[in-house]
Amino acid sequence: MLAIDGGTPVRTVLLPYGRQAIDERDVAAVREVLLSDWLTTGPTVTAFERAFAAATGAGEAVAVTNGTAALHAAMHALGVGPGDEVIVPTLTFAASANCVVYQGGTPVFADVDPGTLLLDPAAVERLITPRTKAIVAVDYAGQPCDYAALECFGLPIVADACHALGGSLAGRPVGSLAKLSTFSLHPVKPMTTGEGGVITTDDPALAQRMRVFRNHGITTDHRQRQEGGSWFYEMVSLGFNYRLTDFQCALGLSQLEKLPAWVERRNAIASRHDAFFAGQPGAAPLAQRLGRVNGYHLYVVQLALEALTVDRDAVYRALRAEGIGANVHYIPVHLHPYYRERFGTRPGQCPVAEAAYQRILSLPLFPGMTLADEADLHAALAKVLRAYAR
Ligand SMILES: *Cc1c(COP(=O)(O)O)cnc(C)c1O
Repeated sequence: MLAIDGGTPVRTVLLPYGRQAIDERDVAAVREVLLSDWLTTGPTVTAFERAFAAATGAGEAVAVTNGTAALHAAMHALGVGPGDEVIVPTLTFAASANCVVYQGGTPVFADVDPGTLLLDPAAVERLITPRTKAIVAVDYAGQPCDYAALECFGLPIVADACHALGGSLAGRPVGSLAKLSTFSLHPVKPMTTGEGGVITTDDPALAQRMRVFRNHGITTDHRQRQEGGSWFYEMVSLGFNYRLTDFQCALGLSQLEKLPAWVERRNAIASRHDAFFAGQPGAAPLAQRLGRVNGYHLYVVQLALEALTVDRDAVYRALRAEGIGANVHYIPVHLHPYYRERFGTRPGQCPVAEAAYQRILSLPLFPGMTLADEADLHAALAKVLRAYAR
C-alpha cells in the first residue's frame, strides 16, 4: 500500500532533490582566509575569478553576490534599458526575466522545445522586433542550448548557465558559449559558495563594466586604492554592492577543484535513472541532444499523464509520503501574477511550456547520493507509478 494511503514508506528520512557537498578541505580553505588580512575585495577574489575563467574556457570571470546579481550585471553590461525587449524562455526561474525588469526593459517570453524544454529558436525568431536587445538562453536542467541556432539572429546572447556549470557543447565548455554566461553558486547548484554568482565573458570591456557595476559604479576598489596609496575615487555610473567576499571565494576555489568529478558523478547517476525509466511507461526523462555534456543540476522527467489515473501533484505528494523529495522546476514565468499584472502576459502564450509544466517533476540527483538512495528512489517511483497506472 502507498505510504500516502497508510502503507509503510520506502524510507523515513527525506531524500532531497539536491544538496551541497562540503568536506574538511573546504572548511580549512575558508578558515585560512577568515584569519587573513582581506575578508573582502582581497586577493582570493581575483584568484577565484582566474580559476573560474580557466575552468570555463572564458577570458574573464567576474564574481558577484548571487546568480541574480550576475544576470543583473549582464543586462547592465549590454546596456539594456527602458524601451528594450529581451527574449527569455518562460520555463525558468523568475530571476532570468526579473533582471530585464531591473534595468527598465521588457522581458518577452518564448516557448521551449517539447523534448528538451530548452529555448526553441523558432519561437525566438517569431518574437524578434526592432526593439529586441538581447536573448537570455537558459541551459535548462543542465543541458546547453542550441547556441549555433540562436547566434543566427545576430543578437547578443546571455547564457543563464546556472544549471549547466561543468557541461560542454561540441567540446567547448559552458561559460564560453555565449557573449556573457551567468552562474549561481547557491548550495543546490553544481558547486557552492553559500550564496554567490559569476559572469564569464571573453570581452574585457564588458568584464570591466561589470566590475564597476558590482562596486557601486566606482572605478577603483579598496585594494587598488590601498596599493596605489591614494584615497581618491569617483563614481561614474549607478552600480550596486554586489561584491562576493574573499572567504566565499576560498570556498569557491576549493569546490571548483572537485567540480569535474562531481559532473562525472551526476552523469553516472543520471544514466542509471535513465535506465530505470526505460522500463516505465508512466514517465520519461528529458531528450538529450548529441554532442552536449549535461551539467545535470536537475534530473527532470515528464509524466505520461495519459497513462496515469492522477495528476502531477498527486504523484508529487505520493513520492513525498514515500520519503522522496521531488520538486517542480518551474511555474512558467509568464504565469506569475506579477508578470500578468505588470506586463499583461496570459495563459496560452507559450503552450508547450504550459503543457510541460503540468507533467514535470525534478527527482533527486546530487554527488553525495548513495547507491542505497538510488535504490530507494527507484523503488518509490516503481511503487507510485504502478499504483497510479491507468
Ligand atoms: C538559481 C538560478 C538563478 C538565480 O541564482 P541565485 O544565486 O539564487 O540568485 C537564476 N537562474 C536560474 C536558471 C537558476 O537556476
